[in-house]
Amino acid sequence: MRYPLVLGENGPLLRLESERGNLSMRWSQFFIPTLREDPADAEVISHKLLLRAGIVRQLSAGIYSYLPLGQRIALKVMQILREEMNRIGGQEFYLPALHPAEIWKESGRWDVMGDNMFRLKDRKGADMCLGMTHEEVFTSIARNEIRSYKQLPQVWYQIQTKFRDEARPKSGLMRLRTFIMKDAYSFDVDREGLDRSFADQREAYQRIFTRCGIQFSIVEASSGSMGGSESREFVAKTDAGEDLIASCSNCGYAANLEKATSRLPTIEDEAGPAAPEEFPTPGVRTIEDLTRTPYLVPAVGQIKSLVYIATVNGESRRVLALLRGDHQLHEVKFTDALGATGLRPAHAEEIRDLLRASAGSLGGVGAKKAVPDVLIIADLGLKGRRNMTTGANKDDHHLRGVDIERDIQVDQWADLRTVTSGESCPRCDTGTLEVYKAMEIGHIFKLGTKYSESMGATVLTQDGKQVPIVMGSYGIGVERIITAAVEQNYDADGIIWPRTLAPFDAIVTITNIKDAKLREAGETLYRDLQHAGLEVLLDDRDERAGVKFKDADLIGIPYRITIGRKIADSLVELFDRQTKQTEDVKLDEIVSRVQKLALAGM
Ligand SMILES: [Zn+2]
Repeated sequence: MRYPLVLGENGPLLRLESERGNLSMRWSQFFIPTLREDPADAEVISHKLLLRAGIVRQLSAGIYSYLPLGQRIALKVMQILREEMNRIGGQEFYLPALHPAEIWKESGRWDVMGDNMFRLKDRKGADMCLGMTHEEVFTSIARNEIRSYKQLPQVWYQIQTKFRDEARPKSGLMRLRTFIMKDAYSFDVDREGLDRSFADQREAYQRIFTRCGIQFSIVEASSGSMGGSESREFVAKTDAGEDLIASCSNCGYAANLEKATSRLPTIEDEAGPAAPEEFPTPGVRTIEDLTRTPYLVPAVGQIKSLVYIATVNGESRRVLALLRGDHQLHEVKFTDALGATGLRPAHAEEIRDLLRASAGSLGGVGAKKAVPDVLIIADLGLKGRRNMTTGANKDDHHLRGVDIERDIQVDQWADLRTVTSGESCPRCDTGTLEVYKAMEIGHIFKLGTKYSESMGATVLTQDGKQVPIVMGSYGIGVERIITAAVEQNYDADGIIWPRTLAPFDAIVTITNIKDAKLREAGETLYRDLQHAGLEVLLDDRDERAGVKFKDADLIGIPYRITIGRKIADSLVELFDRQTKQTEDVKLDEIVSRVQKLALAGM
């Protein structure tokens, strides 16, 4: 057995090689169950291709098995994650996936996580859960072991299986119930320390995604159930994505729609009457209805009123949300503004019970007087508006001449509306926003002292004061990287793996395995490439050349070396999966050629 060293960008990588190892990299014995046709239930490209290329198989909704090719790809992703975490001083842990309920109750997230958390009881009846993330476990270690500022900063990480009971698992590896994540946590004595740790992680993430061959953007995002003061999401642009991103090509502003805002043109309303006037609107149920004859009230002149039931500080609250008629409420922004842990639209009976009218005739005027405990929250786009039209809280009637600040008792003003393409950039003077689909591939949070305070993780400062440790949390999904890499790198023939993630560097295809000369040349080249430190798959199957080429294209190995009749002239064909260019290369030059191509820049 030999252990040739290959010098990578970050020092030596050990590549194991043995006779048994060689045997296992022959396609005739390697388990690659490719499929000719797209599986019927697969919708997004990555899902189809990962199944067709024999990389994963579904066990149950949102639960997948990695087959040997998939495991090789996942290990490459994890290797890049390790190298980049270690480079910024990260120390690798491995924490349990099974957690006692107590630590989640201490942080307050036992309730917050709701149905998304897999919960179970042990044989004694104690509550347990499967970890969705590990802030609680890492914080419990820190509070027991770290006493002084002298022990800080610390950067801890792990690569672990996580669980999330998704309501609607779908799209292959995009929304899973069990998945692999790299999660990292930083512990600092103060805010400045956190800022440095956060910046380190941000740079490490940029290197990770670049090395994985993914085109990404960094956007502002909601912190959601993680809490904390600041967060940045790393997203990959793809139509398969579930996130919507608003970005400005002029100044680079980019934000998830759950956080994005835009600049609205100022509207100068004409002065209205001294008080709102009621008028009959028989059959009018929607904003749209009121824009038609005989009313002709433009949507920008209307107030949209929506009733929600929110859970705030553990209590159920009835909330009336007000927006401009042509604006759409964004529920994540709304949830964040309320600090709510749960939110749902009210049912028809709940609405009638609250405002004595149906959904098409609601309004904020007089609502507070009628129902003192209703919370009225208005979108900033309504600020300063007057002479507007809204429901009268009386079926088939509306009010006009409404001056928001004069006539409605607003409890809270907030940014609630959904940004749309073509609106003005909030940051620069001339840019307009474009909204596109993307998928989240990583997320970094400044947690601050949320967990250290609730769980009592403190240290002594240099001047002897006891302070909560200042934390950050940083996550990357392995399956997300694999999915994004496929979504951004494929063609009609299959996957085009970025070299860094490809399950093999090269494939040697023997066109006719029954021809002893070809077989011998293929076997020799296969061994020579392995000795040169390359990971090679030998296609030694007794199949037609066309079938082998199709399969190689489908699984997406970057370089294919074809051993065919030209071997009589000591020539082989080198096919580049990315450019689809084929060229003849002399047999005695092919090893160094492929070595240079496959390992450059890795
Ligand atoms: Zn801009």
